[in-house]
This record gives sequence, structure tokens and C-alpha cells, in this order.
Amino acid sequence: MLLGVIADDLTGATDVALMLSREGMRVVQTVGVPAKGQPLPEADAVVVSMKSRTNPVEEAIAWSLQACEALLASGAKQILFKYCSTFDSTDQGNIGPVADALMTRLGSRLTVACPAFPENGRSVYRGHLFVGDVLLSDSPMKDHPLTPMRDANLVRVLQRQTKTPVRLVAQPMIAQGAQAVRDALQALSKDGPVMVVADAISNQDLRILGEAMADEMLLTGGSGIALGLPDNFRRAGLLASNKTASSFSAPKGPAVILSGSCSAATNGQVAYAKAQGVPSLGLDPLAIADQKQTVATVLDWAQAHLGDKPCLIYSTAHPEAVKQVQERLGRDQSGQLIEHLLAEVAHALFEAGARRFVVAGGETSGAVVQGLGVSLLEIGPEIDPGVPWTKAADGKPIALALKSGNFGTEDFFLKALAML
Ligand code: ADP
Repeated sequence: MLLGVIADDLTGATDVALMLSREGMRVVQTVGVPAKGQPLPEADAVVVSMKSRTNPVEEAIAWSLQACEALLASGAKQILFKYCSTFDSTDQGNIGPVADALMTRLGSRLTVACPAFPENGRSVYRGHLFVGDVLLSDSPMKDHPLTPMRDANLVRVLQRQTKTPVRLVAQPMIAQGAQAVRDALQALSKDGPVMVVADAISNQDLRILGEAMADEMLLTGGSGIALGLPDNFRRAGLLASNKTASSFSAPKGPAVILSGSCSAATNGQVAYAKAQGVPSLGLDPLAIADQKQTVATVLDWAQAHLGDKPCLIYSTAHPEAVKQVQERLGRDQSGQLIEHLLAEVAHALFEAGARRFVVAGGETSGAVVQGLGVSLLEIGPEIDPGVPWTKAADGKPIALALKSGNFGTEDFFLKALAML
């Protein structure tokens, strides 16, 4: 193994796995932290996906360190801590504290923090994170229920999460090339450990940054920061120079779309699929709570629709409806109710013959993958930026497209299935 990645959620892990695979690495993704002593699969890069973004800080640190040990034991030469391109976190963490713990474990005096993903509209300039044309603090992320992002200045945001001094390497310096950036980083860390927020407004910036960090043990950031890393291993003669795409063949069988995301993009994707005539069943959280809608009733409907054409099961709703449900059932309870049902439905549908699953929503994807009992994923071709097809790499014939809420074009569901 060359690169070990520790990712703080499942769809974010798939996103970075795709980035590395596109750059010619053989990549495997684990679902959950490997047990102590469990050998990791053979690959150029292994991405360990956790669900630690909003967990208590101590838990996030413990899991991240356990993942780090497993990756190092399997030979990882460099570690990347992957988080969201909108820097999802609070003043308590978990980005700063996890980065601190990893720096200590790896003996690093220096790491970078760069969530930029220009292809998806996330750029960092003069330390400020932009989402499309607006500052992070003016984007919908300001109202996120768990990690509201109300400050776009990442130096300030990260400094509130760590005692390690946080510094900035701004874009004009990045534009001077890898050696200049390396010198700047060394100068910033000469008096002691530092975390350096690094600007990036283009893929070129990310490649320069990756090259400048070739000799450092730890990087942190979004999937974009991974862009330049495979070439470092190529330059060192550790990775084949060709970037041949891996062969990917999805298991054959009926397809289902399971959508538990309520993001604006997913609402559009559900509406589009319905308008295209995809048979669909809407889930009603209140009916689930009252046992009027159950795994059995959903399954009855779904089995009648499993066949050559996909069907859609969704709880996706607009913010007003979600708010009403949350007021009645509680935020966490309503989320868990639906996630639990979709996980059981996914398992039952697999038993009934379904083999291809398109899933919308980060938490929803975690629940569905758990319901299906998949612990290892192979990365396949890209559907939209940040979202690849994957398939179970631990024996079960299952293909999965796991989409984080706000990713994908309007026709994502049908486009994904048409690719297979
Ligand atoms: P995203 O990637 O868009 O954030 P997630 O799946 O991570 O999507 O999160 C969506 C959350 O909202 C899940 O916990 C899901 O169970 C919950 N949810 C889905 N539909 C509804 C609904 N109609 N009412 C309330 N909560 C819902």
C-alpha cells in the first residue's frame, strides 16, 4: 500500500476513492474501521470510511487512530485525512482534534488543510472557502442542522478547533510551483508544529500542493487534495506510469433507487425520475411511526416492480415537510426511523433478487450499506463528479452508486443505471 486514507463519512470516502482511481491507483474502500489485527486488502490505496463527522470528539479521534494503525501496519507510506469540501465541523471539532491526534501519532511538524474541490465549485482563496459564487457562510451550509458553517475564514475556523498554530499559504504562492510552496511550508513550521490552510482555486493548484507535500506523512482535506498524490508515487517509481481504468463489471439483476436525502439536488432528481415514469413509492415518516407503513408493505410494493426497469423508493421531501415531521417525531428519531426502514428494505430486496442499488444521501448510504452487510467496496467508473459506481468486494453480487445529497445532475438516477 502506498496511500492510506481516513475518511469521516461514507460518501466522502467514495468521493476520494474515485479521485485516486481516476489518477490510476488501485483503490479499495472499507466500510467502517478495520478490527485490530485484521489485514487490509491489497491495493495502492485503501480508504477507510468511518461515520465520525459529527460524533463526540473522543470517538472520532479513537476511530481515526485505529484506522491509522491499520493503514500503517499494511504499509501506508502517507496518510490523508479526508473530510467534507464544505469543511463540515463545529468549534469543538472534529477536524482540528483529529488532525492533531494524527500529527502526534505520525510525528508530523506540518500538515495542510485544503477542502477545495474546484470541479464541484468548492474553492479556497486567501483562506476563505467559496461554494460556487458565494462564501461558505452565505451558502446553504449556514443552516446545516448539525454543522452550521457561519464563518468562511478557514484559518479562524480551524484555529478555534486546535491549539496548534494555524497559518495560511495563499494562492499567489501556490502559483509559484511546488518548490516555492515546499519552502514556504518549511519556513512556517521552523518554530514548531503548524497546520497550514492552503488555497486552491484550480486542479493545477491542487496538483502543485500535492507535489509540495510529497515527503510529508500527513495531509488533510477534501477529495481534491488527493489529485496530485498518485503522481508523487509515480515520480518515486512506486506506481505504474499508465493510468489505465480498472475493468468494472456490475452484477446483473434488477435495480432499485433508494432516496433518503432531502437536499435540493435530490428533490430535483426524485422529481425528474418520477416525471420520466419511474414507478415510485413515497415513504411517509408519520405512517412509519404509526406502523401503517412497514418493511412488509414496502416490500410488497417493491417486489411487484422488480424487473427490467428500475423502481424508486423515497422519503425525500422539501424542507417544510421535513420540519413538520421533525417537530412531531424529533430530528434524530425521524432520521433513524427512515434510515432503519431503508436498510431493512435494501436487505430484503437483495434477498428478492435486486442487484443494483442507487442510493441518495450520505447517512442513508451508510444505513443501506450496513443493511446489505457490505464491508468492502471496489471503485468503478464515475457517474458525476465525486460519485462513482462501486461494487461489493467481499463476495456479494451487489453494485452500488452512493450519492451524497447535493451531488449529481437532475437525471442522476437514470444516468447512473444507463451506464451499466
Ligand atoms: P444528505 O446527504 O442529503 O444530507 P442524508 O441521508 O445524509 O442526506 O440525511 C438525510 C436525513 O434525513 C436522514 O437521516 C434521513 O433518514 C432523514 N430524512 C429523510 N427523509 C425525511 C423526511 N421526509 N422527514 C424527515 N427526515 C427525513
